[in-house]
Amino acid sequence: MAQSSSPQHIAVLGGGIAGLAAAHRLASLGHRVRLFEQSGRIGGAVRSESAGGWLVECGPNSLQESSEEVAGWWKEFGLDGDRLEASPLAKNRYLVRNGRLVPVPMGPGSFFTTPLFSAGAKARLFGELFSRKRTRTGEASVGQFLRDHFGAEVVRYAVQPMISGIYAGDPERLSAREIFPQLWELERTHGSLLRGLIAGAKAKRAAGKKTIAKLISFRGGLTAFPEAVASRLPAGSIALKSRVERLVPGDGWRVIGSGEAGPFEERFDRVVSTLPAPALARLVVGAGAERPLASLEGIEHPAVTSLFLGYRRDQVAHPLDGFGALVPSAEKRSVIGILFSSSLFPGRAPEGHVGLTVMIGGMLQCDVARLPLERLLELARADLKDLVGATGEPVFVRHSFWPQTIPQYGLAHAGFRESIARCERSNPGLFVGGQAVDGISVCQCFKAGRALAERALAPA
Ligand SMILES: Cc1cc2nc3c(=O)[nH]c(=O)nc-3n(C[C@H](O)[C@H](O)[C@H](O)COP(=O)(O)OP(=O)(O)OC[C@H]3O[C@@H](n4cnc5c(N)ncnc54)[C@H](O)[C@@H]3O)c2cc1C
Repeated sequence: MAQSSSPQHIAVLGGGIAGLAAAHRLASLGHRVRLFEQSGRIGGAVRSESAGGWLVECGPNSLQESSEEVAGWWKEFGLDGDRLEASPLAKNRYLVRNGRLVPVPMGPGSFFTTPLFSAGAKARLFGELFSRKRTRTGEASVGQFLRDHFGAEVVRYAVQPMISGIYAGDPERLSAREIFPQLWELERTHGSLLRGLIAGAKAKRAAGKKTIAKLISFRGGLTAFPEAVASRLPAGSIALKSRVERLVPGDGWRVIGSGEAGPFEERFDRVVSTLPAPALARLVVGAGAERPLASLEGIEHPAVTSLFLGYRRDQVAHPLDGFGALVPSAEKRSVIGILFSSSLFPGRAPEGHVGLTVMIGGMLQCDVARLPLERLLELARADLKDLVGATGEPVFVRHSFWPQTIPQYGLAHAGFRESIARCERSNPGLFVGGQAVDGISVCQCFKAGRALAERALAPA
């Protein structure tokens, strides 16, 4: 990629994994960077804590190592010795139906016998193979799009809990085109999504391409990733407790904000922002009071509580032989998902104990996530007793509350993308990307940060 020849002085906004990726890329290409982070730590949503033999992931719990490129990052950042692959048990997943954990079918054989879906729903799903090609002119929600293909029951008992588990989202409010661009395209090219997926897998096999998608973490937890990236930045490049409030163009850019020691103002050639949408919406750009990205306030970010509960092994009846369980909203429970954290990776619980991560809230029950800890514990304990046979008080509790988690790529998301593009066009030298538009997983955000750095250096 062609890059700006003379070293630039570049501000990076946001110290999550996207900002760190951007700063690292820029620094490794010989540019001077300064990364501004409003909190007192780097990593953003990625946060691991350990105490008394427990290792808790407060935010993301695992990464999808989905390509050789991703696998190469661990070597690049000296993390391969600490990399942990999830237990083979992680391929077992559960869904709750009629108050019980039911294994998710992993192949056609188990699909036909599973009690998860009625005979009618199975027949409807099979019938999808005969769908005709279709080009949609407008947007469709994930719920609508997949209902058109697989019927209402599959959406209610499989799609809704999956969307809730990944996006803390509501399938009726997320855009199918944004969330499943490949499926959107398959509908146009093949009609049937199943036929399209089968054809894609066949073509890949014929070309000798292997899909490696491994679930991984690190010995000390996911926080090792942002820490390793940060440790490779030149000394003094990270400004913690420094909230950016205003960007003023003119002879480069002035970055203005407030920090621990009072207000600050620094001059840069370019600015790269990986701020989340609510922070972008508040950002003043220019000498006046203009907030060109104010419309991004319209991107919803649900509240989520992550409760890590430790039990003695003999307190939990379920074998916990899997990744965890997702709970469809139709089941009317308080928890939206349970991760069997200590079954996934070693070193998450002391000997003779197990650790469960319970997710509460999301788009369909934000208010529940905001309840006080005592009430959350009551609700979680009641659900865990019914679903995995956990009895008595947990011996270890860690409560992480996320008031605004994952950005929801809803039906109006294309308009938000356009607002960002317009803002960049009218403010040369300002580059905006990351979680708000480039995908929500840790690996997508890392990749997006790197791509943003490349874009900031490309000749106009
Ligand atoms: C509970 C939870 C579970 C998740 N589970 C998974 C999972 O299992 N796997 C997975 O891949 N992903 C998961 N994710 C998603 C993933 O963790 C995030 O999408 C990703 O880490 C976001 O990275 P980021 O750098 O774009 O943003 P963030 O991590 O949000 O970082 C943005 C940073 O900007 C800072 N900031 C904000 N405003 C300002 C300002 N004005 N000035 C300076 N700094 C500012 C913030 O303090 C923050 O540190 C999960 C997220 C959460 C919350």
